[in-house]
Amino acid sequence: MECSDWTLAQASEALHAGHCSALELTQALLQRIERLDPHIGAYITLDPEGALEQARHADQRIASGDAGPLTGIPLAHKDIFCTRGLRTSCGSRMLANFVPPYDATVTSRLRQAGAVILGKSNMDEFAMGSSTESSWFGVTRNPWDLTRTPGGSSGGSAAAVAARLCLAATGTDTGGSIRQPAALTGTVGLKPTYGRVSRFGMIAFASSLDQAGPMTQTVADAALLLQQMAGFDPLDATSIDAPVPDYQAAMTQQTGPLRIGLPREYLHDDNLAPDVVAAMTTAQQVWRDLGVTFQEVSLPHTRYAVPTYYILAPAEASSNLARYDGVKFGYRCQQPQDVQDLHSRSRAEGFGAEVKRRIMLGTYVLSSGYYDAYYRKAQKVRRLIADDFYQAFRSVDLLLTLTSPDTAFPLATRTADPVTMYLSDIFTINVNLAGLPALALPCGFDRQGLPIGMQLIGRPLDEAGLLRAGHLFQQATEWHCRRPDLSAVGG
Ligand code: GLN
Repeated sequence: MECSDWTLAQASEALHAGHCSALELTQALLQRIERLDPHIGAYITLDPEGALEQARHADQRIASGDAGPLTGIPLAHKDIFCTRGLRTSCGSRMLANFVPPYDATVTSRLRQAGAVILGKSNMDEFAMGSSTESSWFGVTRNPWDLTRTPGGSSGGSAAAVAARLCLAATGTDTGGSIRQPAALTGTVGLKPTYGRVSRFGMIAFASSLDQAGPMTQTVADAALLLQQMAGFDPLDATSIDAPVPDYQAAMTQQTGPLRIGLPREYLHDDNLAPDVVAAMTTAQQVWRDLGVTFQEVSLPHTRYAVPTYYILAPAEASSNLARYDGVKFGYRCQQPQDVQDLHSRSRAEGFGAEVKRRIMLGTYVLSSGYYDAYYRKAQKVRRLIADDFYQAFRSVDLLLTLTSPDTAFPLATRTADPVTMYLSDIFTINVNLAGLPALALPCGFDRQGLPIGMQLIGRPLDEAGLLRAGHLFQQATEWHCRRPDLSAVGG
């Protein structure tokens, strides 16, 4: 087995046992990126020199006994996390030259743990999208089929993990952007409870929904990465001041029989691909054999989730993106006539079509006369959606759904039709509206050999429960061990 094939946990063991150095591991991954990434497009920016330097430092820490499980582990950061001295573009022309003078809290915590940053992964512009096609830097391709999307918006991170162009990655999820790409690439993605991971230095899309989380090959790796990412941060006023459990220990802890709820509204969706439904049925049998009991539950406001999200998220985005005015930082147009022209042309040239669509939607629903009809009403529906979940959690521990209604779709098939694209997140968006944690993990393949993912949803702050259940499933199955065949492009 090549060292680039290791899971994070395996690599960590090998580094500590002295079977391999962080420098060798980093070099192996950089070589693999050089060979394969021209075909995949997972990275926007690479930092080979910085990575090698960090790897040398990690080796010193390991030698001196001052190392943790992430020391020397090569990671990719979604290009939405500010990285001091390393370009952070958010997939946009607007920030194509932005080099942050500071680190996001997620970045600095992982740096302190000794992780190595290989580079910044591709994403939909300002995290708006479900296919990584709205990036100013070009598309990312799905390693399982290079003519298809890896999902989005964290598609670069998902593709990098699936193609072994990093050992693990960070992502962000506002309406599904960690979980949907995880499902479409056969990897694991965890969206923590809103507030569990600091948003400081994470470029804002919709602040009441945005949440960072790990994207990994296995559930056990997600536990390792989340351990370092999670926790209170005084720099983020919405971060939760609650102790972070030992996820490794919690993951393997024995508990009573699990009760999992199956939301009725998700099972009878007309848009479900048949292979996806079949995989879900098989997965349920695996769970039953593991002693899980199922119970149907109802989330009656499910069908309002997508329209509610597409009022609230654009409203918040239109406000957050007002800061890009061509003056303080970011893109500035050539030879502005006056300050009005500077603002409007910098924004017209710096933002892509999807971002502009969201800004227009957002300013519309916030404008006087429409605020009550749209924004305020959507806030009320958001509460009803959250209450549905709380009601369901009275009788079950977790909920099980699909992550995405279908498998990876061919590139360029949904870009002209925003509503079809928006429906890609039909099973993930309501989780963000309710602020809950959810885990996407592989549960099968369709007839074309494309990965299928399922989603476990937990109570607030029950990331440990999700990891425990997910780990249990992965010990009984091998879906997460399959790898895409990249031999045609030199893999
Ligand atoms: N696809 C959704 C959107 O475009 C969610 C994106 C996300 O989670 N960042 O808004």
